[in-house]
Parts: sequence; C-alpha cells; structure tokens
Amino acid sequence: MTAYPTPRNHHYWWLVTGSWRRLHAVPRAVADPDDDAQVDLLCEHPGPTHRATCGLRAPWRMPGYASRTRQPRCGRCCDRIGIPRGDGTPANEKARQERLAEKPREDKETP
Ligand SMILES: [Zn+2]
Repeated sequence: MTAYPTPRNHHYWWLVTGSWRRLHAVPRAVADPDDDAQVDLLCEHPGPTHRATCGLRAPWRMPGYASRTRQPRCGRCCDRIGIPRGDGTPANEKARQERLAEKPREDKETP
C-alpha cells in the first residue's frame, strides 16, 4: 500500500500535484527511499519540484491512502513506462487484484 519506488511500483515514486487529480510516476532518483530526511522532504507540502515521467514539472506531494488506492494514474506516465493505465499505484492495484482472486465467490442465491 505504498507510493514508494518499490519493484511493484516499477521503481517510481507515485505522487500527486496540488490538484490531487492523478498519480504521476516520478523517477526514483529524486529521493532515496531509505533516507528519512529525503523522504521527509518529499512529504512536505508542497514538496520539492521535479519532473515526472510524462514531462509535467511540479511540486509533488505524497498521496494519502485514498489517493494511493483510488486515484487514476497519469496515462502518459503509464504509457512511457509501458504499464497499463489504471487506478491507484501499481502496487495497490496488484494487491487489490490478488485480494479479489483469493476472495471466495459469494453464493448469489438467496432464500
Ligand atoms: Zn504523469
């Protein structure tokens, strides 16, 4: 359930601008996820300005839980990385798909 540049997030930070409309893929190099000071800086409001994969240059913010799970990903960022468009960070989308696959089918018959 993360916006961090993990393997499931294709090694990108998934961040939002001040409008909170879309999750953009921001290169991992902008902040070392193991460096607390750099991560703290990335979490400031507004955060530092960097260029996302789609070319959008903006001050970035760390998305909250709802944004990480439901906000649409930037289509241009997805296209440039070569991943499907969708909602939520790639890691969250994958986790959601796995949960749905494990969930037993409910009996639709009612007495
Ligand atoms: Zn983008």
